[in-house]
Amino acid sequence: MGQMKIGAVVLAGGKGTRMHSRVQKQYRMLTGKPLILYALEAFEHSQVDHMVLVVGQGERERVCQEILGSCRFDKLMAVTEGGRERYHSVYAGLQALQGCDYVLIHDGARPLVTEDIISRAIQGALDYQACVAAMPVKDTIKKGDQDGFAAGSLDRSCLWQIQTPQAFSYSLIRTAYDWIMEEEERQTGITDDAMAVESYGGCRVKLVEGSYENLKVTTPEDMVIAEALLQCRGIDPESELL
Ligand code: C5P
Repeated sequence: MGQMKIGAVVLAGGKGTRMHSRVQKQYRMLTGKPLILYALEAFEHSQVDHMVLVVGQGERERVCQEILGSCRFDKLMAVTEGGRERYHSVYAGLQALQGCDYVLIHDGARPLVTEDIISRAIQGALDYQACVAAMPVKDTIKKGDQDGFAAGSLDRSCLWQIQTPQAFSYSLIRTAYDWIMEEEERQTGITDDAMAVESYGGCRVKLVEGSYENLKVTTPEDMVIAEALLQCRGIDPESELL
């Protein structure tokens, strides 16, 4: 990438309550190793120069010892503690990742991210300043009303499911998040980084190709699917399923 410095923030600061498990999902074993290591390995082997791992409050020491202890990640420059909401954790990661021209923000709970997806996100950031990995939705999406009745359908042909990595020029995303943190009381419900840029304004966010395999492990059945997909990759590491 020449003189450009590219950083990555890998998020593992969530509580994972939807998994209903004693061990947080990002540290659960997935085909033989803690889930979070998959994303870190993908970024370690990518064009990214540096990465920061964001963990939950009070978890830094335990994660460094128990999860990262026997691993070697040359690009991992810091493990920092995040905050209550995802955007607090992103902000902590951005603060720890000074000196980068571009940054990729990734949910550590997406272990099936590939170097190809990371490359497309980097290229999108270089070309457009802001991009997100995304795929067309497969299902019909409806709005529901308060009584649990369908209240209209959305046009599926223009709907996308948004994934990570989400990639930005560092100065753009940092400015957007600085503003979000100042305006925090009025800026609720920021669940991804594109929303931060959309709220701040001034730059359109490009959709780049993600993958249907790049799922976010959220509920127990996602573990089964992720495991099956990883096993398929193990059989033929060159091929993606699709
Ligand atoms: O909660 P959600 O599924 O949107 O979380 C997406 C990613 O953000 C996960 O990898 C999770 O660990 C991370 N996260 C975080 N800090 C929080 C909440 C979520 O790092 N406060």
